[in-house]
Amino acid sequence: MTIAQAHRTAAKHPPRRVALFGGSFDPIHSGHLAVARAADRRFNFDEIHFIPASRPPHKLKQHLAPFPHRFAMASLACAEHPHFVPSLAEAGEDFAGTQLHYSVDTVRYFRHAYNHHGDRIYFIIGADAFLDIPVWKEYDTLLGLCDFIVANRPGIRAEALRLVIPPDLIARPDAKKEAEQSPSQVIAHLRGTSIYLLENISSEVSATDIRRRANRGQSIHGLVSVRVEEYILKQGLYR
Ligand code: ATP
Repeated sequence: MTIAQAHRTAAKHPPRRVALFGGSFDPIHSGHLAVARAADRRFNFDEIHFIPASRPPHKLKQHLAPFPHRFAMASLACAEHPHFVPSLAEAGEDFAGTQLHYSVDTVRYFRHAYNHHGDRIYFIIGADAFLDIPVWKEYDTLLGLCDFIVANRPGIRAEALRLVIPPDLIARPDAKKEAEQSPSQVIAHLRGTSIYLLENISSEVSATDIRRRANRGQSIHGLVSVRVEEYILKQGLYR
């Protein structure tokens, strides 16, 4: 594409900032929504896609609510936010969510769908999940495919997050870039992408705790959105 063509395309399609937030979302809870809202405040997204993870056949025995329930709850939680989008990206052709999906392929799919000049994809992830990223498929490729926003979680230091990134992927410090962002907000700049840190928004809320409470018949009010609470009760989930 020539520069003139790129400018014409950009004029027709203003660049979009799109965030991807994947998880088991079993169920989606106020901790997830707080992270998404904080990321939105900082990066001003056009869309944030909540992507319930598929449950591959070899993990069917693992305790996880069926995909349709997790997708329904993500949809209900997104209903109050005009640009929060429940995503079927990992639903599979039969929408059963039983095919194996890797994040690197999901990000490629979104890069293909949002391919106008200037579009930018961000991957939102909790710090605990980011620490596990070296075992993800093609993780070094993944880190170069989109920006990352890591929501810090209690007890995890920023240096530990930096150590996860292969040193050869880290770009040499660039004075201009460093000046743009305070160091506490950036974990690392890679060659074409950056890994940002979102501090002080993580809560202690976890899906494990919510399932446990629901199982014991305890209230989950305030831990999930009102619509999701209603859905869990009506469907008798986690009893
Ligand atoms: P579980 O308790 O079942 O392990 P979870 O509450 O951690 O679930 P997931 O759906 O596995 O929820 O999380 C999706 C993403 O959201 C992960 O990247 C995780 O680190 C992040 N996350 C979950 N809960 C919080 C929270 N309270 N604050 C910040 N990030 C969170």
